[in-house]
Formats: sequence, structure tokens, C-alpha cells
Amino acid sequence: MTKKVALVGLFLESNRYADVVAAQQFKVMRREQVTDDARSASPILLKEGQGFFEQMDSNGPWRPVPISMVLGGAGGPAEHSFIINEILNIERELSAESSLDGVYILNHGAMTTTDEEDPDGLLYRAIRRAVGPDVPVVATVDLHANISQRMVDHADVIVAYRTDPHVDQFDRGREAANIMSEIWTGMRPVVSNLRLPLVPPNVSLLTADGPYADLINFGQSQLDTDILNISIVAGFAFSDTSENGLHIIVTARQTRLRAEQLCHQIARMAWSMRARFMWNLVPIADAVSRAQRTGAQPNLPALLLADLGDNVGAGGPGNTLWLLEALHKAKTEGVVIGSFFDPTLAAMAVDAGAGSRIDARFHGDNWDGAAPVYSVEAALVQATHPGIFYISTGPLSGMRVNAGPICLLDLDGLKVLVTSRRPIVWPDPTLLSALGVDVRLIRTLVLKCRSNYRAVFDQYFTADQMVEVDTPGRTSPVLTRHQWQRLPRPSYPLDLDCEWLDEPDGSDPD
Ligand SMILES: [Zn+2]
Repeated sequence: MTKKVALVGLFLESNRYADVVAAQQFKVMRREQVTDDARSASPILLKEGQGFFEQMDSNGPWRPVPISMVLGGAGGPAEHSFIINEILNIERELSAESSLDGVYILNHGAMTTTDEEDPDGLLYRAIRRAVGPDVPVVATVDLHANISQRMVDHADVIVAYRTDPHVDQFDRGREAANIMSEIWTGMRPVVSNLRLPLVPPNVSLLTADGPYADLINFGQSQLDTDILNISIVAGFAFSDTSENGLHIIVTARQTRLRAEQLCHQIARMAWSMRARFMWNLVPIADAVSRAQRTGAQPNLPALLLADLGDNVGAGGPGNTLWLLEALHKAKTEGVVIGSFFDPTLAAMAVDAGAGSRIDARFHGDNWDGAAPVYSVEAALVQATHPGIFYISTGPLSGMRVNAGPICLLDLDGLKVLVTSRRPIVWPDPTLLSALGVDVRLIRTLVLKCRSNYRAVFDQYFTADQMVEVDTPGRTSPVLTRHQWQRLPRPSYPLDLDCEWLDEPDGSDPD
């Protein structure tokens, strides 16, 4: 029998220190647009959505009932009325559907709005209200989601990514589809979940190795005929909500007690290794010295500096000046700054045209009210480009990016790629090459990104060549520098003497 599955998407990672994301900044697909996109040659639907479609197609006859996909990437809190209206619309449209067999939620899980700290939870509750208790609701979330009890209560199963950089979204979408199919055969998932007062800085969350890798690998080693899914969700500190904290969700096919025991076991393990969830960054001055040496000595391996205080993937504005200024003043050779968001400067350079010289004024982020400007006289406009490009590899491969007209400026040897539309996470190597830059010849590349670039640039730089630089800004992983309002206190490592005592495992084996 053909199964009718409703598809709903709500995706934004909200950093409380970043600017509000307005309605028009979301990419919204409604009804058939979703299916048309998913079936197109180069869909813009996120990978988990593509994976869900592909797996459902192979699992048997089904009919997608797309409601809407509201996709926002990373930024600040969302415009409240827009999100609430979208949730109301989803509830209304789902209520109007008859005989649904399931709902798939494509969700990030770390959204806030200007007035609500758990809009994702509101969405899940609205969906449950619309479809009732018996229709399976399966969600995929980012491992930087802040899982609320509302989300857990109103979904049957929550499946989180297991990789950072995020290279498994497609597989998690497929997993969600398989779980949905299994529920249709009569499986009734039982869930145990708990949250620890542990708010890991994002730099401690890579999954190739390190504490988070150890936890996730242990969780995966426990999957068996009973344990369906283990999601260890580290959360997104910068959302600053009362739900922040590492959240463990264990879903069993039948045995609640086993789910509860595993959930507590993983929690105790995470807590025992909490000292490993710490930032360990390189000061700006040391990073610049390394870049100078690298520029001066061709035999040294190239460097990639990650500008962590302005991590665009976590809501950074893409225009802090710390590294640009320090590297320029140090007259460092062979440096390319992968992107700097400045529409005024980009327009001026594009108007002047390649080969001309301009007095460049870089307008920096004004988050601390300073509105800094860094000026360089007679900067060479080395190249210009319309700014539309496709990510060639890695977790966002195939994604179309419109950075608006862009230019490559040469400041006495320091090259800066200036964009005129929303900040970009990283310039694709194909874009750099269109601007006349060969990645393999760069001595030091600066990216305003923390993690996902690794899945693109690891073909040019080893992990040892990637340097995490301690720049100030809205996305600094040094959590003690930020003013928190809602994040639960005490939480480790903000409060190093924070204590947590495990309560006894659940004893209700129903
Ligand atoms: Zn993430």
C-alpha cells in the first residue's frame, strides 16, 4: 500500500550574538517545489532530505506530501512572527491532510527567535497536535542541536548527525527513512534521554578523534537488534538557551530499561571525560609569526588559519579585522584571506575594474560598538567575478552560492577576496582558480570557518597545517568571554567546579 509521508523542514542555527535573521533571508520551498527540487539534477534541499527521498524511493511505494521547507543556515535569532506563522501554517496544512502514514522533519534544532528559545520544540508539538499520537514522526537534527524535552516528547525518533565536519547528513536522512519503514512494520520505539550540564566549546567537537569521537564511537558500538539509534547531541552553545547542554538520546526497539541504562552509561562516560572538552587555541601573534615564517621559507608546509571568532558557519558576520590587520602589518608573504564580507568595498572595486588601484576601506564588524575600519591605500584590484559558484566537494558539495559581485584585492602582496552578498563559509577552490589563485601555491590561507572546511581543504592541508586562531568575536569558542543569559549555570567548562551526580538508572521496564 502506498504510504503518505508529510515532509516538513525548519533549519536555522541561531547565535544569540549574531544579527536577527529576517523572513526574506530564509529560503522557503512550498508544496510541489519541494518534490520538484528533490527530484531535480542539482537539488538545493539539504542532504538529509535528499537521503530521505532516495531511501524512501527504494523502500517501497510512497507518496511524499511536502508541506514546506524553511531553510536558514546559520545566523542570529529568527524573526519571531515569521517562524510562528510558518509553524501555524504547517499545523493547519497537516491537519487538513487525511490518512497520513508518517511525518519527516528536516530540522537543525538550534533555532531561537527574537521571542522564543525553543521554536523547534513548538514545531514538533504543532506537528503532533495536527497528526495525533499514532502517526510516526521522525526527525533528523544537527549534532549542534539544543534538544528540548518538547522535541523528544513529540517525536517518535530523533536522529542526529554523527560527524563534524558534517559529512553524514545524507546517511542520516536514509536512516530516518528506514526507521519510518520499520515503524510501519509494527516496531514501537522507546526513548531514554538526558541532558548533562556540559556545554562543550565547538572546537572540542571534531569527530575524527578526540573526546566527542570516543563518545560517538562507543554509542555506535552499542547498536544491536534492540538498540535502534544513539544520538549524542553536543548542542550549540551560542544559542544561549535553557536547553543548552550535551544531550544523549537512546532509542530502543523494545526494552526501555536497556535504553535507560545505556543513556546513563554514556552520560557518566561523557562526564568523566569533561576536562577534554576545552578550547586550546593559538594566539593571533603566534599565528602571524608562523605565517611569516611560512611565507619566508618555501620548504615549510603551507598553513590554514581558521578565524574562530568570526566563524561564518556559526553566525559570524564574515568581516572582523583582527587577522587581516595583523597579517598586513606584519607584511606576511603568500597570504590569501578566503573571504571578507564588505558590499561597499566590493562594489567600489568592481566599478574600478581589474588592474586598477583603489584606496580600500575594510569595514569591520561593529558588534562591540566600535565600527572599526582598516584602510589600505592604492590596493590593486587583481580580479573580479560575478560571484556565483558551486561548492565542488565536501558536505555542501553541489550547493550554489551567490556571493554577489566579488573582487580579489592585492594589499602589498596580501590577497583578500571581498564579497558583496552574505558572508560565505569558504571560497571553493574552483572559485579561487577562476580568480587566478591556485590553492596549492598559497602559503597561508585564512578562512572564517571552524570545521566544515576540513572536508574540502583536507586535500591541500593536513590536520597539522590547520591552525585554530583565537580571534575575538561573536563566535569565539572561549565561552568565558561571552555574556550568557539563559544557558544553565553551573555548566562545565564555564563553571569548572560544576558537579553532576547520576541518578539511578530507571527501574520501570515496561
Ligand atoms: Zn552543526
